[in-house]
Amino acid sequence: MPETLETESRKLLGRLRDAMAAGDAGQERLDRIVALIAGSMRTEVCSIYLFRDADTLELCATEGLSPEAVHQTRMRVGEGLVGRVAKARDVINTADAPSARGFRYMPETGEERFSSFCGVPVQRLGDTMGVLVVQSKAEREFTADEVYALEVVAMVLAEMTELGAFVGEGAALSARHQQPVMFRGTVAQEGAAGGNVFLHEPRVVVTNPIADDPESEKARLSEAIDTLRLSVDQMLARNSAASADQKDVLEAYRMFANSRSWLKRMEDDIDNGLSAEAAVEKEQSLARTRMAQSKDAYLRDRLHDLDDLSNRLLRILTGQGGDTGAELPENPVLVARNIGPGELLDYGKVLRGIVLEEGSVGSHAAVVARAWAIPLVIHAKNITTEALNGDPILVDGEQGIVHLRPDDTVRSAFRDKIAMQAAAQERYASLVDQPATTRCGQTVALNMNAGLMADLPSLPSSGAEGVGLFRTELQFLIRNQMPRRAELSALYARVMDAAGGKRVAFRTLDIGSDKVLTYMKPNDEPNPAMGWRAIRVGLDKPGVLRMQLQALIRAAAGRPLTVMFPFIAQLQEFRDARAEFDKAMDRERRLGHPLPEAVEVGAMLETPSLAFAPDQFFQDVDFLSIGGNDLKQFFFAADRENERVRRRYDTLNVSFLSFLEQLIARCAALGTPVSFCGEDAGRPIEAVCFAALGLRALSMRPASIGPVKHLLRQVDLGAVKAAMDAARARGDQSVRHAVIEALRG
Ligand code: PEP
Ligand code: MG
Repeated sequence: MPETLETESRKLLGRLRDAMAAGDAGQERLDRIVALIAGSMRTEVCSIYLFRDADTLELCATEGLSPEAVHQTRMRVGEGLVGRVAKARDVINTADAPSARGFRYMPETGEERFSSFCGVPVQRLGDTMGVLVVQSKAEREFTADEVYALEVVAMVLAEMTELGAFVGEGAALSARHQQPVMFRGTVAQEGAAGGNVFLHEPRVVVTNPIADDPESEKARLSEAIDTLRLSVDQMLARNSAASADQKDVLEAYRMFANSRSWLKRMEDDIDNGLSAEAAVEKEQSLARTRMAQSKDAYLRDRLHDLDDLSNRLLRILTGQGGDTGAELPENPVLVARNIGPGELLDYGKVLRGIVLEEGSVGSHAAVVARAWAIPLVIHAKNITTEALNGDPILVDGEQGIVHLRPDDTVRSAFRDKIAMQAAAQERYASLVDQPATTRCGQTVALNMNAGLMADLPSLPSSGAEGVGLFRTELQFLIRNQMPRRAELSALYARVMDAAGGKRVAFRTLDIGSDKVLTYMKPNDEPNPAMGWRAIRVGLDKPGVLRMQLQALIRAAAGRPLTVMFPFIAQLQEFRDARAEFDKAMDRERRLGHPLPEAVEVGAMLETPSLAFAPDQFFQDVDFLSIGGNDLKQFFFAADRENERVRRRYDTLNVSFLSFLEQLIARCAALGTPVSFCGEDAGRPIEAVCFAALGLRALSMRPASIGPVKHLLRQVDLGAVKAAMDAARARGDQSVRHAVIEALRG
């Protein structure tokens, strides 16, 4: 039987291909296909339902049901047996359909006469496109082989649908990936941007789902698998120093790449008439469906590995993929599942916007996007499946909405929005030379955060007084190898030149957590955010820190130099780091190199512990800079990269503000200059509250300086402080509401 069934299946696929090649319009093709399937499966009915919109399926072709029902019969996902197949993305095979759970009688189809029903989802890479159904009068369940054959056909239908084979005059048969679609996500960086999609990982397009010669397809598959195995082995060899977690992943890859059952399933698919690519995709689709349904995190991870491996295999087979050399379109908007800070830096500032399916507001990729003022929307579910390279896209970073292939009304509303933004920027531009002096006469120094040479040109136009945080690790992240001292020194000198005498606070290398250098041995750490990172690495393995300090001292040569150490958690760490700096100065002095005109050496306060350090710490440091991003994550024990927990805690939470207030008072009592350089400093309401607590220096992304200055110049800090105190006295959880009310006057 399998032999004949295979032959049958191949014959049917061959006929389907002929039907495709016949040059008919979309509807005629569909009509022919249902007739062919019904004939081959020996069933009275075969129907194809396709999605009309995200929730509605429509009968698009039928053999055996009433022809009048075509394009009339519709059901919602989950409704009736067909809707249930689409919802569960799983087969329903029953001998007695009218008694099956969910059966819905549709008089226009004349359906009650058919007893047995088998529906399989038409899906491609986890994206359900419709449902293929066969029905017959005889009361019988379809055999496993028959169901399998239907799944193979459904796979081919999915590919054909994707390629637009059924597009035509018919009302429901509009092409996929051509409709406007809106995505609701989360704002990670404000701003509005319009442009064209650039997929970080382009979709693979399979143009030949059907193949006649199973032997040659199997040979192609086997060759591709050999290449895949080799690349996995090379990956393992290259990563011999990888962490245990990474090794687990790579070993899992190797296991899948050598899995007999995976290969066997794909070979069976080929025997049934699919091409090698379509066979890989069919198995990948199944894995994606299981991934979406699985509640077991371990299993989901493994299925994710399989998905990734399938992608690699498809790229090998089709020669398509990340390195196709696809050109960036004009005004590129990057669309990706997720992206790390290093990869984002590789793209550079040319991006107009970024849309991610995953991601988090606290990640360093988001920090980079913010530094560049590129609108970033995260959690845009399924956008990588919907979007095609070059599609027009609008990113609304105020509402967290993304419009893919927008229609004219949306486009024109968006143009208005961008114009309003430009007008606001103009208003801020008029403040560039004005100080951030409040109505009550207090002046707050507003500085900018930077990390790349490319950021420096924003310094004069932003109105910043200097660079309050220069994240030196970004230079390390954009390279494939450790930069040399001479290169760094030249770069730091250029940064100081570009700053034109304004103060630049260079933060020494802050790696670890999500900032991973590909050329440094990764660590096996269960909790990298609280692990061996930043100054901990610098002190334990001081080679790089020493090199960096020398580079900074040489760059300053006769100019003032400001250096700060990240992630200091206790007094001795600062003393040890300072000792490294002093040693570097001594060395340069001995070598006869010119020394900086003056030095300031400070610490970043990113752990609550440091606020309670002995008085000596506050006297030892030349200044303190509060790294609110990390501080907040440790204060609330809420991972800055985990959206679910991060959003629970408002920065204006009374506990956090009381903590800051005590810290600021301590700095004032001990004469320690203190500033705030976390992302919150760039949010106007937060900035005003920090100023009301006594902070007189803030550092933020350049684009925030205008809005923050604008608000500061309108407020009376005494009134803001009174509103904050009243909220605290009342027992409010956050002062936000009270402050906004007070600002409204
Ligand atoms: C911070 O933690 O607030 C900070 C400024 O450093 P980063 O965001 O680079 O960790
Ligand atoms: Mg930090």
